[in-house]
This record gives sequence, structure tokens and C-alpha cells, in this order.
Amino acid sequence: MSKPVTDLIHHPYVPPDTFAAPQPGVFKASTVIFANVAAMRARDWKSKGGYTYGLHGTPTTFMLEERIASLEGGKHCILVPSGLAAIANVSMALLKSGDEVLIPDNAYGPNKALAEGELKNWGITHQFYDAMKPEDLRSRIGPRTRLVWLEAPGSVTMEFVPLAQLAAICRERRVTSVLDNTWGAGIAFNGFDLADGAQRVSGSGADIVVHALTKYPSGGGDVLMGSIVTRDDQLNLQLKLTHMRVGWGVGANDAEALLRSLPSLPLRYHAQDAAGRTLAAWLQARPEIAQLLHPAFRGSPGHEHWRLLCGAEVEGSGLAAGGVAAGLFSVVFDPRFSMAQVDAFCDALKLFKLGYSWGGPVSLVVPYDVATMRRKELGTWPHKGVLVRFSVGLEDVQDLRADLEQALPALR
Ligand SMILES: *Cc1c(COP(=O)(O)O)cnc(C)c1O
Repeated sequence: MSKPVTDLIHHPYVPPDTFAAPQPGVFKASTVIFANVAAMRARDWKSKGGYTYGLHGTPTTFMLEERIASLEGGKHCILVPSGLAAIANVSMALLKSGDEVLIPDNAYGPNKALAEGELKNWGITHQFYDAMKPEDLRSRIGPRTRLVWLEAPGSVTMEFVPLAQLAAICRERRVTSVLDNTWGAGIAFNGFDLADGAQRVSGSGADIVVHALTKYPSGGGDVLMGSIVTRDDQLNLQLKLTHMRVGWGVGANDAEALLRSLPSLPLRYHAQDAAGRTLAAWLQARPEIAQLLHPAFRGSPGHEHWRLLCGAEVEGSGLAAGGVAAGLFSVVFDPRFSMAQVDAFCDALKLFKLGYSWGGPVSLVVPYDVATMRRKELGTWPHKGVLVRFSVGLEDVQDLRADLEQALPALR
């Protein structure tokens, strides 16, 4: 007879295994138990046919991986603790000393910082390219180029780059391409099969798609997670090996939060899109605004590229013939307003909170000094005014509009 303290750990009761509920269970494990040594030795961590160690996957993380792979139109998914970790995992897996990586000048800032601050120390060089000009990418691909980053639209400045053309250049030059698809979220377009108008062309997109699940898939503003999705078995294995070696596992409670949010992802995405367009249209008409940067609006840089890729009417979007976009846009204020005046406008907002990130219930706003974020020699930022990026949450859109209206007088 064992002592009660041991029974607390090794209790004979096993619950019946026919439990069924709308949501999958949360399996938490730092390690897993094997029936015998032979089973322990036979288990292969690379196979999803079983479990070897908490870091290598649990039923909860496997389930989330399969769902994210489907969302993105891929075959394999690797989960990591943040969107930035997904970016780092890809770069670490595919680049070695002497290689070069090409990154759009308008990429998510920390991706550029990773190249400048870490990859450089490992003997990996980088170039920033103008993603609005496919010829600029083509001219920079050299014998040492091993990886090209793609992202649409550009971070903060929102220009929608010609993704299909950029991906085609990478394929033609046999360089691996990786798309940061956080904006599209698997809803606005498929990163592996880019559409040209109504026609979706199989295999015309990126080789790898990363996604900050932190944003729309979480939707709560309370979870950090990233995904790396591929269709190619070999490429997945290469990424997975790095993932194993660096130990970037995710927690079961975070995975469960994602699994709970995923069913409402399309609804939230389309609702935030509709609200974003309402507010963008209202701001565009205001005399304080010099330029609206929202890919779904005519006159916004790259609008034609957005139209080709995301412009078809999508069932359930509720936006008749209006295509699909995220609830994210920027405006450039008239140059007569100083940074301090625009800061005062942002400070005067009540419902829009000051904060990075997007995709959650709370609307967020950030003022940016874009000139300091872009390479002058590429000339990708022609504006003089201060830019403010808006991320639309789930509040009532008329309340949000009234918030913008009451804050504008703070400019003066
Ligand atoms: C937020 C974001 C990331 C990074 O995600 P984290 O989970 O915050 O690390 C990467 N790419 C894009 C485009 C993002 O918006």
C-alpha cells in the first residue's frame, strides 16, 4: 500500500476517455510518460504520431498547428512564442555565415533590427529593398542571397506591394521567399497561392508564411505567439530542427486561448475591416489630413496591387464588391502640424489608446516619425507631415468617430 502523498501523484483513478466538448482540452506537460524503455527509444520527435517531450508538442499545440496550417493554406505549422520569434526562427534556420538576406525597407521594424543587430554578428549580411519596385529586388539578388522577406502592406506606411511579382522573381532566381502575413491573417489572401484578379494561381506565392498570431488570431490583446507555415516537407524539417535546438516552445494555456479565438477570426477581421474603412473615409475628408494610407482606398499607394490580390468579393465579408482588408490604416497630417501638435491629438483621444500591436478589442493609435524609419537613399517616404497609425478594435464605430472628432481640435 503506498502512502497518501504518493497516491496524490500516482492515483489509480483514470477518467473515462469519451469526454466530448466544443473546445479541445488543455494538455500541459513539461515531459511525457512512456510505457517502457522500448517505447521511449522507438518514439521519434519528428513524427506527429506520438509525443516525446513537452517542448516538442502536446495534443493542444498539435491541434493549434493543424488549424493554423489550414488557415494559411499550408501543410506544416511550427508554433513559437511570438511573431518576432517566428521571424528569427526562419532567419536562423536558413541563413549561415557568408549568406545575404533581403528585407523590404517597409518591413516590420524588428525584422530589420534582427538583421542589423544579430545576423550581422554571425557574418550574415543584409540589404533593404524597395518592395514597391520589383526591379529593385531583382537587381539586388546576388550569388550570396539565400532568403527574401516579403510583407504586404508595408509596416506603418501601408503601401501594398506587388507580392505576386516579388514572389515570382524569387522563384525564378531560386531564392527562398518568406512572407510575413500578419496583416492578411489567412483571411485577406492566401500567401502560398497569390491571386491575380479572380484567378488564384497555385504555388505562385511564398515558400514560407509567418504570422504573428498575437494580432488577429488571438484577438484578445492578451497572448503572444507566432507561426511558421510551409508546404514543403524538407523545408519544414529544416525549420523544425532550429526550433528544437533553440527551444522555443509555447504554453498550453496560450495555445488554448488561440484555439478559443480562432472560430471568430473571420467575423472579427471583417468587422474591424468595415469599421476601419468607415473611419478612414471620415478622416480622409478632413482638412487636417494630407494623405490617407489604406490599401482599399483609391489613391493609396499600391491600391491596384491590393485590388488584384484582395479585391474580389469574398463571401461573408459583408462588403459588397469591396474586397478584404485588415482594420488598420495610417494618415499623414498636413505638414503645417508639428510632431508636438500631432502628439497632442493622440493624447486627446479617449477610446483610442496609445499602444503598439493590433487585432484586439481595444482601438490603438501610434504617432510615427517615418523619416527616421526608412532608408533615405531608397526615397520610399515622400511625405513631410507626421504619420499616425490607427488600429481599429471592436468598439462601436460611431463612438470611435466621435472620439476622433473631439480630439482634432487638440492639434491647434
Ligand atoms: C506584431 C507583428 C510581428 C511580431 O509579433 P509579436 O508577437 O509581437 O512578436 C511581426 N510582424 C508583423 C507584421 C507584426 O505586426
